[in-house]
Amino acid sequence: MKKAGVIGWPVAHSLSPRLHGYWLKKCGIEGRYEALAVPPEKLAETLENLPKYGFQGVNLTIPHKEKALMSMDELDPIVRRIGSVNTVVVRADGSLEGRNTDVYGFMQNLLSSGVDVRAGPAVILGAGGSARAVLVALQDMGAEEIRIVNRTPERAETLKRQMGGMIEIFPWDRARSAMDGATLLVNATSLGMQGQPPLEVTIDGLARKAAVTDLVYAPLMTGLLKRAQAREHKIIDGLGMLLYQAQPAFESFFGVRPGVTPELRASMVEVL
Ligand code: NAP
Repeated sequence: MKKAGVIGWPVAHSLSPRLHGYWLKKCGIEGRYEALAVPPEKLAETLENLPKYGFQGVNLTIPHKEKALMSMDELDPIVRRIGSVNTVVVRADGSLEGRNTDVYGFMQNLLSSGVDVRAGPAVILGAGGSARAVLVALQDMGAEEIRIVNRTPERAETLKRQMGGMIEIFPWDRARSAMDGATLLVNATSLGMQGQPPLEVTIDGLARKAAVTDLVYAPLMTGLLKRAQAREHKIIDGLGMLLYQAQPAFESFFGVRPGVTPELRASMVEVL
């Protein structure tokens, strides 16, 4: 029986077991997908032992995505660009390959909603781990002008230095002007998530045809998305990214490319 899982600390909140469990059943695969609670000091040992315990691979969540790089035998090109691993594949010879599917997940979520990132300036709120993936995705999709707004501007400056391209940095108190005429707004901060402070930014400077997407998916309909909807912007929630980033991971563990369907979405929405 093929086996995979998700490693986090804590891990109980992870939706991955439900998601991969749904696909295993749907695809008729006799496999298992487990949640593994592993503290940071045990990560290297756990990863090293994956082949011994018969794992095809694992997903990684908070706080392991960066630290895991050191335990990989090989990194895919996206990991080398963004410096974080969300999928570990155990290869036939027992070596470990670090991949990152967040860039793909973000891209697919936008593409499936018909968003053209070349339509005008794009604004990213945040400069943390997921903002890196968003930035790479936008650049690879051809976005020409990207504005990053972050509470800690130095972190955004580092991102700009490492990634290059047409990037302008704005401090948090100038978020309003960063949005002037923008055709895409992405929230890649944790603000607006259950248990976190609300995201309070003014979006009235966005272009009328702008699309607004939030990486936060709990709640699904965030305060930002509600305000954007009230202004008749196209809105794209964060659940789509979560589902799409899991697609290539499932395929590398179980050998079948599963579908992202309305039925799958509905099954996930039930627990949000
Ligand atoms: P992270 O690396 O910890 O970055 C957090 C970001 O939020 C930083 O830019 C931080 O600014 C900002 N921030 C936090 N508190 C703030 C505050 N009070 N005021 C202003 N800015 C604040 O986190 P991450 O991994 O990028 O994740 C960010 C969010 O994306 C999380 O909610 C996560 O669940 C979600 N996410 C969703 C998906 C998906 O598939 N939908 C995938 C990945 C992540 P500073 O730099 O100033 O600290």
